Amino acid sequence: MKFQKSSFIFVAALAVLLIAAVSFSGCLGDSSHDDHDGHDHGDPNASYDPLDNESVGQVVNGSKILVAASVVPQTEFIEKVGGDNVIAISMIPPGAGHTYDPSPRQLEDLSKADLYMQLGSGEPFETNNMKAFAEMNLNMTVINSSAGITLIQSGSSTDPHIWTSPKCAIVMVENTYKGLAALDFANASYYRANADAYIKELEALDAELTAELSDLKTRNFMVYHPAWAYFARDYNLTEISVEVDGKEPAPKDIVKFIDIAKENNISVIFVQEQVSITGATAIAEGFGGEVFVIDPLAKNYVENMRYVGQVLAEEMS
Ligand SMILES: [Zn+2]
Repeated sequence: MKFQKSSFIFVAALAVLLIAAVSFSGCLGDSSHDDHDGHDHGDPNASYDPLDNESVGQVVNGSKILVAASVVPQTEFIEKVGGDNVIAISMIPPGAGHTYDPSPRQLEDLSKADLYMQLGSGEPFETNNMKAFAEMNLNMTVINSSAGITLIQSGSSTDPHIWTSPKCAIVMVENTYKGLAALDFANASYYRANADAYIKELEALDAELTAELSDLKTRNFMVYHPAWAYFARDYNLTEISVEVDGKEPAPKDIVKFIDIAKENNISVIFVQEQVSITGATAIAEGFGGEVFVIDPLAKNYVENMRYVGQVLAEEMS
């Protein structure tokens, strides 16, 4: 299957569509949560898996569309919609944080990308890099994944973690469809069918989570890094983050969070893999609870979110 480089008319039409800010069901609530002024620490050894020679060849000869995104779950959305026609890369590798700096090899791959699915949610990585990315690759169409999502205000910025709510993921998948269909109109019906099938899965996941998280003993949960504000908003929960301005909590904060945990019947602090958990462990010890790992950046999105829902429901019941 030969990918035809897009006609600008369709790209322009798409831009108009996105600017029209279509409103989608769900993911439109509004609430304020913990500040997200800080940046998570991330794993300093996180590494990007570069495109292999075969993939580079397919991108260069136009038989595959190279779609870049900022975080790993987006690559799942892109592959679900694009199927065999796309190769997806995440610019923030698994385990890296919001202030990750892309490597020269990543920039080399990105220079061949046809499309960038920008989170568009105030992600610091994008604030730091998108302008340079666009200037480096003038052939790359940039599409805003969060068009149609009401962003959560966080301090002076917005909370970037839109993907952790399946309701938001549905909107992101729809935007991914629009990006691919505009770029490769000849295959639009293929992308539509793929998107519809995946959205069905996400809707089923959403229904499951809604049911599972409806009747709980407490609606408050404690996390180290505040990656779950959209999830919390869309399932009527409250995220309490113990990370303070992107840093480990100070001793006085640890005392405060121990009290908050006790007051709210909290038994667990959720942390993410590869992030320092010293402060979280100290707090958990203080209220006699435990630290439990959940991953906001896993690739197998539906399975992972189902798991997260089960863990939260169990701990909050
Ligand atoms: Zn984060």
